[in-house]
Amino acid sequence: MKRLILVITAAVIGLFCFSGCGSSTDKDSDKISIVTTIFPEYDWVEAILGKETDSAEVTMLLDNGVDLHSYQPTADDIVKISSCDMFIYVGGESDGWVEDALKEKKNDKMEVINLLELLGNSVKEEEVVEGMQAEEEEEEGNEAEEEEPEYDEHVWLSLKNAKTVCTEIADRLCKLDSSNADKYKKNLADYTSELDKLDSEYQQAVSSAKNKTVLFGDRFPFRYLTDDYGLNYYAAFVGCSAETEASFETVLFLAQKIDELSLPAVLTIDKSDQSIAKTIVDNTKNKDQQILTIDSMQSKTSEDVKNGDTYLSVMKSDLDVLKQALK
Ligand SMILES: [Zn+2]
Repeated sequence: MKRLILVITAAVIGLFCFSGCGSSTDKDSDKISIVTTIFPEYDWVEAILGKETDSAEVTMLLDNGVDLHSYQPTADDIVKISSCDMFIYVGGESDGWVEDALKEKKNDKMEVINLLELLGNSVKEEEVVEGMQAEEEEEEGNEAEEEEPEYDEHVWLSLKNAKTVCTEIADRLCKLDSSNADKYKKNLADYTSELDKLDSEYQQAVSSAKNKTVLFGDRFPFRYLTDDYGLNYYAAFVGCSAETEASFETVLFLAQKIDELSLPAVLTIDKSDQSIAKTIVDNTKNKDQQILTIDSMQSKTSEDVKNGDTYLSVMKSDLDVLKQALK
């Protein structure tokens, strides 16, 4: 599958070069053009630019609900990336296609932020904990190949990481548009204090909670969040595993954990059909646990942006959900 994607990407890039190389695109040259892949990056840029700004044009590429792990770039995406002033992406296995897109860049002064590279040692490997459904080996698995560590790409689900990234975004914006540097610095300071405030609200909620374990009847992109506050977790699947079926063994293990720890809720993530969570609840003694959804922001759309969702608003509602789950 990966190979096929690479071929398609290469074809798309080739096509673009054949038809479009050299001709400048229709972007407004007075404005800084910023291209981001996912919603958190987009919203952070907007926060640092500030509300009434018209100094930049910001694009969120993944805006139709297809998540990072399944997304494939369009020819138009490649054009946008190759000609923008600033580009932000995750830099993990899922958006490996970016490397090819960047080879086409026409702007040598492009500011590029790779989140995993920027966060360096804060990046975690995916962790398999007791009870998780084992991942099936990939069909094309080459036995001679050394198994590479699987980095957890969901770095945005840490408010501490958000601070690091926002600081970097502000730095790069100041470089690109020094005439507005004071404004960007001020916006960064305001935004950072909001991140700090929410961070301590999370810490407080966890410190005062009776129970310190969350249980996901679902995939588990929240390792950065649980680690930040010292929460224990159990989940049906590691990271954003492609697995969708949980064995009865997995279900039973999680149901027994709920009984053992008297957990009040089973968590699911955005876009889950909740079927595994329901089966887990059905296998507990009391069968009365709530099924709650905590938003990992992986399927945000341009519609959600229009409706006013922001990184902070989602992290705030996630805190409300977490409080329910920690009762
Ligand atoms: Zn994911």
